[in-house]
Amino acid sequence: MNKFRTQEVWRLAGVLLTGVIVGLITSQLWPAIAIALLVYSLWLLNHLFQLNNWIQRGLKRSEAPNASGVLENIISNIYRLKTSKKRGKKRLAELLGQFKSSAEALPDATVILRASGEIQWFNEAAENLLGLQTPRDLGQRIDNLIREPEFRKFLYAKKRKEELRLTSSLDKSVTFSCRLINYGKENLLLTVRDVSIRERLDQVRREFVSNASHELRTPLTVIRGYLEVMSADDKCSSEVQKNMLIILQQTTQMETIINELLTLSRLENSTLSADEGEEVDVATLLQTLATDAVQSGRAISGQITVSADNRLCIKAIKPEIKSVCSNLLYNALQHNPKQTPIELQWFSSGSGEPCLVVSDDGEGIEQQHLGRLTERFYRVDSSRSRESGGTGLGLAIVKHIVQRHGGRIDISSTPSVGSSFTCCFAASRAVECSDNRS
Ligand code: ADP
Repeated sequence: MNKFRTQEVWRLAGVLLTGVIVGLITSQLWPAIAIALLVYSLWLLNHLFQLNNWIQRGLKRSEAPNASGVLENIISNIYRLKTSKKRGKKRLAELLGQFKSSAEALPDATVILRASGEIQWFNEAAENLLGLQTPRDLGQRIDNLIREPEFRKFLYAKKRKEELRLTSSLDKSVTFSCRLINYGKENLLLTVRDVSIRERLDQVRREFVSNASHELRTPLTVIRGYLEVMSADDKCSSEVQKNMLIILQQTTQMETIINELLTLSRLENSTLSADEGEEVDVATLLQTLATDAVQSGRAISGQITVSADNRLCIKAIKPEIKSVCSNLLYNALQHNPKQTPIELQWFSSGSGEPCLVVSDDGEGIEQQHLGRLTERFYRVDSSRSRESGGTGLGLAIVKHIVQRHGGRIDISSTPSVGSSFTCCFAASRAVECSDNRS
């Protein structure tokens, strides 16, 4: 029994004892006990009223009613609850203050939105970068202030892309990178960063690569022309002719690299609208590539199997799709032992995306290389790739083409088992092949 309960039991026992003694003296035992209990109840009721008043007046410590026993315990428990709640509130307010001041200090514009797009809060950077103003814009819909149609699409998209690049409507030389993160049930966090410098550097790099490649192409063509003539000249000794052929081979390799760099530049510098392209019959394309590989002696008969849905076509840029298919098939043949079985698949995925899979049972690629294979000039074995005429640009070109067509490339591989390259394009590009397919 705890201290307060014991105290209360003693008090009640005292009241009853008093009633019994008075009852025995007055020979009115039961009425005396009843009166004693009534007095006790009234005393208790009075304390309960005092307690109620104290709660209603805001639980001030100085005004706490004087009580003992269980009532004293109730009062101190209520007071403890009140102080711990107060401490919790203070801590919450401190945390909120810390969050606000750190969000204020962020160099990126940070805007808290409701799912409906209404602005709930924004930091100082949002005022500078996006021209938002407090309190004018609080409660406004963000798409009424950033009126770009692309932004609206990004904001309300069910399956949103990770980042949106946006040109500022106030200053065309400024580019923003926008990201949206869902949090809680109903809220969105919008962060906007000024990436103009990075964008300009990228532009300079793209222009440099493109210009340098253009400038190198002409002299290389001239050099190759002379080399072809000289290597066929009988006046040169066989030693010189042999060396000429080596130089010619290297020149041709340089020309291939330059042409592929120019292809990459062209892909990077042009965008493809969602409905651009012609109907491409990928099933026939794969069949033709497989037949060509056998006829040219690159593959042996039966090495390549094609399993393709011949009613599934894709609306796309035909030479680009051809480049994706031939690059992947060429790699499967080039980077694996001769006669390695290769499978080409073309089908519609569960979510309606047209997908191309090129898989082989070859050497496979170690896990640590997989994430970097689509980088320019990345090769698992540089010297072997160069010897076999590889430029290290093939998969970078494939990735750009697939992305331009709203798709993605996935690479999976197991050493000594084989590799699989999957390119799935935007579902909106899938079309049923018509009779005048190309
Ligand atoms: P490359 O011109 O060297 O083929 P790619 O960009 O096409 O350049 O490929 C990059 C590297 O990926 C290759 O050098 C090779 O190491 C590796 N690779 C690509 N496809 C395969 C494959 N099917 N099997 C094994 N390795 C591959």
